[in-house]
Amino acid sequence: MVVLKAASPPVPSVNKINNGFPCSNGTIKPLITPSPSSFINLDQGDPEVFRAYWRKKSEECTVVINGEDLMSYLSDTSNVCWFMLPELREAIQRLHRVVGNASAGIDKHIVVGTGSTQLFQAALFALSPSDSPIPINVVAASPYYSEYKDEVEILRSGLYRWGGDAREYDKNEEYIEVVTAPNNPCGSIRRAVANCEGEGKVIHDLAYYWPQYTPVTQQYDHDLMLFTFSKCTGHAGSRIGWAIVKDIEVARKMTRFIQMSSIGVSKESQTRVAKIIGVICDSYEKIGSSLDSDELFFEYSKRKMRERWEKLRAVVDKSNLLSLAKYPKTYCTFTNHTSESYPAFAWMKCKGGIEDCESFMRNLKVFVRGGKRFGVDQKYARVSLLSRDDMFNEFLTRISNITSDRKYNLN
Ligand code: PMP
Repeated sequence: MVVLKAASPPVPSVNKINNGFPCSNGTIKPLITPSPSSFINLDQGDPEVFRAYWRKKSEECTVVINGEDLMSYLSDTSNVCWFMLPELREAIQRLHRVVGNASAGIDKHIVVGTGSTQLFQAALFALSPSDSPIPINVVAASPYYSEYKDEVEILRSGLYRWGGDAREYDKNEEYIEVVTAPNNPCGSIRRAVANCEGEGKVIHDLAYYWPQYTPVTQQYDHDLMLFTFSKCTGHAGSRIGWAIVKDIEVARKMTRFIQMSSIGVSKESQTRVAKIIGVICDSYEKIGSSLDSDELFFEYSKRKMRERWEKLRAVVDKSNLLSLAKYPKTYCTFTNHTSESYPAFAWMKCKGGIEDCESFMRNLKVFVRGGKRFGVDQKYARVSLLSRDDMFNEFLTRISNITSDRKYNLN
């Protein structure tokens, strides 16, 4: 909860709005519980799944911001990323130390962004040659995160252009490859795959490289790594992402891009994220051993994801029209246990002559994202597993009622 002391009309406190969304006039719009006839939206990966945990932690995560606080554009002029609050930088370094998923020590430059969406664009700007007569190609192995292509193409930039599937890239030209690990949509762990004569630079998007989604197997130390708070804890509305960058010139150019697009990143958000990261790390570093495992965020969130996957697999296993990818069991250096991955999305394949999984799901009044958006066959679709419990349960009910002998309108 962020208490904005100068706020008027009063902002409803988050722990009082369990059953609704706050409106600007101070009222609460009730949440609509899905009924068997309503549409459910599992297209976007809006992270609602961990809300109950954060509701319990509301007080501990409270940040008080006074009227005169955080007024300046500047945060730390001695740092490359001059708009980043030092407490956020330290919190991010601490979080990576605790989890062991990425190397973010003092030899690295951290650039904060308004979500990792802004940082992806900043990275494209920083890695594109400024003196080339032709735009550099941006590639990703399919199925790739659907937004990359749109983000690359929206401005019709002269610096970069969409180059398609990384596995098929065979031009003798420079390129930027985006590697998403674990991958959105399919949850697999990936490495760079483009194999061509041209020189390649890589952006590693590690949005889901957190213990609740996949075992942490190594501390990544790539040249340019992107992380987002949206998927780490579920606080997507704070719009905070960060890049860990080895080369100071790249970090400088990314900072310049953010300066040009938004002159920095909200300090209210930075303060809140630093506070929440502190709450997570304190529970592991100081008092972890005496706490119930459900009090620890990554234990809670992993259990939550595992339960959803177990329920989903049980239903899909009984269906002869749907299938899901299997994930290998791997040792996690964070939990010290071997486990499967429990990705944020289910990458579903329709069988039994169903050619278009998205339309098939729409017949069940479920919005999902079809394979075409990810550069593959329409037999596939991505289903968000990050929704509220009632949406997820309603989805299970609907797919458990699918039978191969029933007639579906597949147009
Ligand atoms: N990368 C990947 C792979 C994602 O799935 C997302 C969110 N769906 C993002 C980046 C963007 O995250 P945000 O802008 O919320 O930080």
